[in-house]
Amino acid sequence: MKKRIKTGLIGKDIGYTLSPVIHSAAGDITGVDVAYRVMDVQENRLPDVITGLKELGFSGFNATIPYKEKILDYVDEKSDVVEFLERANTMVVKNRTIKAYNTDWKGFLSDWLEKDVGRIEGATITILGAGGAAGAVFYALAKSGVRKVNVLNRNLKRARALVKKFKYKFYNLKGGVFSINNQNSVKQCISESGFLVNTTPVGTFPRVDDSPITIDFRLPDDIAFYDLIYRPEKTALAKAFEKYGKNTYGGTGMLIHQAALSFEIWTGILPDTGKLKSLIFMPPENNGQASGYTL
Ligand code: NAP
Repeated sequence: MKKRIKTGLIGKDIGYTLSPVIHSAAGDITGVDVAYRVMDVQENRLPDVITGLKELGFSGFNATIPYKEKILDYVDEKSDVVEFLERANTMVVKNRTIKAYNTDWKGFLSDWLEKDVGRIEGATITILGAGGAAGAVFYALAKSGVRKVNVLNRNLKRARALVKKFKYKFYNLKGGVFSINNQNSVKQCISESGFLVNTTPVGTFPRVDDSPITIDFRLPDDIAFYDLIYRPEKTALAKAFEKYGKNTYGGTGMLIHQAALSFEIWTGILPDTGKLKSLIFMPPENNGQASGYTL
């Protein structure tokens, strides 16, 4: 008999989400019958919605902005990574209890390795932003033996807490915190880095001309840029790097990998991400909209 899962996404103002498209495609590839429901939920309705998911026999669900942290108030168990990052994007419901996982960090790393972005071990890497996605990226880098991580952020207190937590767990790691609004710091951090990763939402559709930083200095010869934003796949900052002949990578690959990993947690089957990409196909001229598949 065909395997069936009932799952979905909890978030707020998430009409833009591509998750149903990705999970339907994953179902088609693996032969699993997937019912994926998008749930736009106000915070005060979260307890009722979660009770409802248990009653209705959901196998699990994803959480996205702004609930990746808040959802932890409703779970019974956390994976070790969730315990450390304090953010979850994938929940498994079993016997009316919920266990929380985080697939963002591994989704980022899988895409990085697949695209052969470059050697992380021993590298110095600058991250823009210090929120949940920055934590996931930082974790992937730290697990891969990064030497030094510079975090550029607006809120320095938040960035300091992030770096402190990582230095405590990964005691060989070097790390610094700088203001993203200080151009000298931006220049200094990037000048000593092999890679720059943007984890801020600045440059996301529709404000596609916005950029979290300005490049008005000479970039290191072999620096590469990775942006977590997938809509558009090529952000204004990526275009600035390309103008100087640097390699750039957008967030679609990470998005697909983190979804495939969620799917694996729910079903035990990891869908072929190459097939997933070809089914979902998002041309940049379409601002990253899914085009090969319908909701
Ligand atoms: P978050 O927890 O709200 O963190 C956002 C970070 O961006 C914070 O550090 C914030 O700085 C910074 N920021 C926001 N607006 C800014 C601005 N105007 N100028 C400078 N910095 C600004 O959000 P998140 O969960 O980390 O998500 C961040 C982005 O990653 C989103 O665009 C999300 O879609 C993307 N993402 C992509 C994937 C993928 O699969 N491709 C997965 C996860 C997340 P302060 O601390 O100073 O407020």
